Amino acid sequence: MKQHAVAQQDAVSKQDALSKQDAVVKQDYLPFARPSIDEATIAGVAEVLRSGWITSGPQVREFESQLSFWCGDRPVRALNSGTAALEIGLALAGIGPGDEVITSPLTWVGTANVIVRAGARPVFVDVDALTRNIDLSQLEAAIGPATRMLLPVDLAGLPVDRAALYEIAHRHGVRVLEDAAQSFGASSGGVRIGAGGDLVAFSFHANKNLTTAEGGCLVLNDAEEARRCELWRLQGVERFADGGMDATLPGGKYNMTDLAARLGLGQLAHLAEFTARRRALARRYFERFDRSLGCELPCADFTQSNWHMFQIVLPADVDRGAFIRGMHAAGVGIGVHYPAVHLMTLYRNLGHEPGEFPVAERIGAGIVTLPLFPAMRDEDVDRACDSAAAVLGAIR
Ligand SMILES: *Cc1c(COP(=O)(O)O)cnc(C)c1O
Repeated sequence: MKQHAVAQQDAVSKQDALSKQDAVVKQDYLPFARPSIDEATIAGVAEVLRSGWITSGPQVREFESQLSFWCGDRPVRALNSGTAALEIGLALAGIGPGDEVITSPLTWVGTANVIVRAGARPVFVDVDALTRNIDLSQLEAAIGPATRMLLPVDLAGLPVDRAALYEIAHRHGVRVLEDAAQSFGASSGGVRIGAGGDLVAFSFHANKNLTTAEGGCLVLNDAEEARRCELWRLQGVERFADGGMDATLPGGKYNMTDLAARLGLGQLAHLAEFTARRRALARRYFERFDRSLGCELPCADFTQSNWHMFQIVLPADVDRGAFIRGMHAAGVGIGVHYPAVHLMTLYRNLGHEPGEFPVAERIGAGIVTLPLFPAMRDEDVDRACDSAAAVLGAIR
């Protein structure tokens, strides 16, 4: 019995030592993304918790009103994810079986999954090697009689050229749902993403430039569309003054909580500063990253992109797994955003195969995301660059 207790205590103190060690390592560890949440926001969320009203309520209404102001007074509805915003956007446009939606193969698989879930067919168009976004010069050739919608993606926060995109959309009479999950705070042609165009979906996932932990919103065209978005958001239910209710369409459960909205309000107050800091860090990457390593750097845009991510494409002869392991061992977190979607099993089962979209496939196979978040110090950029050089030197 006594021995057992001693052994247990020994285990506990070993555990203690381990977690202390772990804490030291973690303190030193540079993640690829980390949200910046200030104490005032934490206090604000605690206040909502104490208020007795924690799901959709006054905080959501205030968040929507500030988002709407941000988006040039267009109607905005808060949702519980960016995926929900995409799903509702497709529903509002009546996308379903027999329809085709054109999108990028170099995106989070969620972008394409929502099209499949709606019963429609995703049609991929290869990306441009410089912007890594859908190649607008190839887009028009993919538009056919079944095309109902364009679903462009602003990868890493670098916006697809909206003027060129909408010129094509208008000429063919197709709707646009912008997957702007990564481009909140970015602009195109001097117009904020969200302040122009057709339907715009933002994500407030933990790693996005503005976060509500999980969340998103959809920017709409008019009050009637906003009303229909509210129906899709919550079971299609309309309530009447006499206490009765009716459901007119099979909506989902997509409402944002007041806790999340309060977090979003705290973030929104810092967005301009977050974006400025991200741009400064991206500039430093361009100054410090060793060009002789043979990696492809991102498009050097310092006016439109919100620098959601700083991504490099490794040379073809480098094993990405080995690079990621080497960087991790050096205390630098690396993300992969994203392998080409059409090569995933679900999409191969829909008939896609390697070789269809060579640029997306090449980038998707070699892309890595280096650390970039507002609280990062300049020295952290230098460390990421130095580690990348050392790791590439060691594994090649
Ligand atoms: C994050 C993201 C989404 C989905 O947003 P969630 O809030 O995670 O549902 C969709 N598309 C892209 C390009 C994203 O980066």
